[in-house]
Amino acid sequence: MIHEILRVGVLQCNCSIFGDEETKQAIVVDPGDDLESIHAVLDQHGLKVKSIIVTHAHIDHVAGAAKLRAETGAPVYMNERDSMLLDMLDVQASWLGVETPERTEIDVPAQDGTVLQLGSAEFQVRETPGHTPGSICLWIPRENKLVAGDTLFLDSVGRTDLPGGDGKKIIASIQGQLMNLPPDAVVIPGHGPSTTIGREKRHNPFLQ
Ligand SMILES: [Zn+2]
Repeated sequence: MIHEILRVGVLQCNCSIFGDEETKQAIVVDPGDDLESIHAVLDQHGLKVKSIIVTHAHIDHVAGAAKLRAETGAPVYMNERDSMLLDMLDVQASWLGVETPERTEIDVPAQDGTVLQLGSAEFQVRETPGHTPGSICLWIPRENKLVAGDTLFLDSVGRTDLPGGDGKKIIASIQGQLMNLPPDAVVIPGHGPSTTIGREKRHNPFLQ
């Protein structure tokens, strides 16, 4: 499996591009910005976008989704409980001092039980509300990888002081939905360096 992580936009959101070597299909997670860089990686590997997944509707994760959807025809998967954040993209843009991006449609609701296929690998959606009401993580058993959005970070968890955030829910989501994954599973957070489930279980101060 091809897996490239790009840091996109002013907040350096980790955008993951997964590609299957045989089918040449790709899944792009969190195309927050810098579509030219995303297309360059896709072209470099000869990949065609099959699906776009947005872990939550904060502007730094979702801003490029409508454009990438229009350019590739690929459907956008997102949890519908974050629709209210899509409705306030203009407010989010004013927080960052950037232009308001086009609002994406949600083509397929992403929720517990939603599975995307890429080659022989399954991408399983796990709902992890807390950072936002509709935050999701992606568990890829074959790769032993978790794409965590802004739910779990190295030594930290997502902030819950923005509209729709809930400090109790994010801890419950992590404990209930993520800490049962293998200790050596690699966690790719929405920002910053990767970690593992086991490391965060032992050392993350928010989970002790
Ligand atoms: Zn966020």
